[in-house]
Amino acid sequence: MARVLLLAGTGAARRLAADLTSQNHDVLASLAGATAKPAPYSCPTRTGGFGGASGLAAWLRSENPDAVVDATHPFARQMTTNAIAAARATGVPLLRLSRPPWRPKPGEDWRDVPSVEAAVASLPRTARVFLATGRGSLGALAGTTATLFLRTVDPQPAPFPNKGEFVVARPPFDEASERALFERLGVTHLVVKNAGGAPGRTKLDAAAALRLPIFVVARPPDPPGAPRAMTSDEILSALAE
Ligand code: NAP
Repeated sequence: MARVLLLAGTGAARRLAADLTSQNHDVLASLAGATAKPAPYSCPTRTGGFGGASGLAAWLRSENPDAVVDATHPFARQMTTNAIAAARATGVPLLRLSRPPWRPKPGEDWRDVPSVEAAVASLPRTARVFLATGRGSLGALAGTTATLFLRTVDPQPAPFPNKGEFVVARPPFDEASERALFERLGVTHLVVKNAGGAPGRTKLDAAAALRLPIFVVARPPDPPGAPRAMTSDEILSALAE
């Protein structure tokens, strides 16, 4: 049995937590606090930042887990960078959960873009755009006259700043419900971050079925020193040793 700090905040992390606890590991899942009511975990959770790499290192020295598992979102680069530095400073082994990026399927109208800003800048003025890029992309939406639908997990305190609206809903979403949503809203374009993972690909599959262009924001490169990305099974095997 290993004592594990799981850097979480994704569906993949929640599934890994369930796998780890089912193998009797002592897991603490760490959440940033970005979501008001996170979906339940099968293990205890803690919420809030550690105070940068040095704060995480101090936490690791005090709690002395056997391993840290980074299962944060592939676009959560700061947390991953901090985990690398803190693991190096303390000698606590760091494992990283793999989420291979999505690849275009034959027939998909897939357009690679470097950022949400770049996607928004290239939209036709009359487009009706579904953004599955999270609340953090609100700042990237200025300057477009397109109608935007931005999905968030929590209801938002402020009105939507553009033409369009927030779509408040909690994943996972199956392909049929994504397709029905896009049809109901009259969506003409989809913008996603290349998060990877099967559960989240349903929105791309739904857009492809409706022949919508899909703007895919490329992942940022791995931070220097990032450990090899491992599957859940590889992580379970490594922790069983
Ligand atoms: P980020 O930019 O990498 O991290 C910003 C700061 O938030 C970190 O420096 C850390 O604060 C704190 N933090 C992030 N993840 C944490 C965790 N699991 N436990 C404790 N503190 C954490 O992260 P982000 O992009 O804002 O994402 C925040 C959370 O949402 C992550 O857990 C991520 O998995 C999840 N998420 C992100 C996205 C996305 O598109 N970025 C999408 C879905 C889910 P301190 O420096 O104070 O420790």
